[in-house]
Amino acid sequence: MGGQGHAPHGAAPGVASRLAAWAGGLPGRLSGWPLLQQLGNLGQAPLSEAGLGPEAISARTQAVRSRLDEPGVEAVPTVCPYCAVGCGQLVYLMRGGPGQPDRVLSIEGHPRSPINQGTLCPKGAAAYQLHFNPTRWTTVRYRAPYSDRWEDRPLDWALERIAQLAKQTRDATYVERTPDGKLVNQCTGIASLGGATLDNEENYLIKKLFCGGLGMVWIENQARV
Ligand code: SF4
Repeated sequence: MGGQGHAPHGAAPGVASRLAAWAGGLPGRLSGWPLLQQLGNLGQAPLSEAGLGPEAISARTQAVRSRLDEPGVEAVPTVCPYCAVGCGQLVYLMRGGPGQPDRVLSIEGHPRSPINQGTLCPKGAAAYQLHFNPTRWTTVRYRAPYSDRWEDRPLDWALERIAQLAKQTRDATYVERTPDGKLVNQCTGIASLGGATLDNEENYLIKKLFCGGLGMVWIENQARV
């Protein structure tokens, strides 16, 4: 006991040294405190913007560089394929070399679009996954007449079958003249109902082929006509 007579409590020297170490590191910790950094930048920007400039960005974040800024990346404007709002998007491509395919890096909102001004809803923001998704269905599900099961068929097979049935139906229902002799050249046996993912150009072609070409009279679309 004789060697410990000056310390009223055994833990006191340890606490004191830890307090001293903590106090010694205080200036460094305070200088990294975001509030003090922001106060230190007062006067360099309007007071209403205090704390909203570079001082609010950590050094780690400032060091981060987007892969979209890499050389060879190109932003191609397009339209979101999902709904009738028609938000503008930018598809960021890394151009492939000779003989190499381009690679899509990201799809983001187009800041210059007057519709969405750079924003996208969660669905549009996930458009990348529409194109690059290992679970995406790549075949047509077909159930034959009177069958009790679905079959996988290739897309080309489905397009061929649609074309054959469209011709068959048009041949069977085409009306050149009404009973009173009026020239109508119309096909009333086929209708077209388009979704909002169709854009102006696609609707133009639909109208031209279905109405002017096949004589269909019932053509409807959710929007963008
Ligand atoms: S981003 Fe959303 S709101 Fe805009 S077109 Fe796409 S689905 Fe519609």
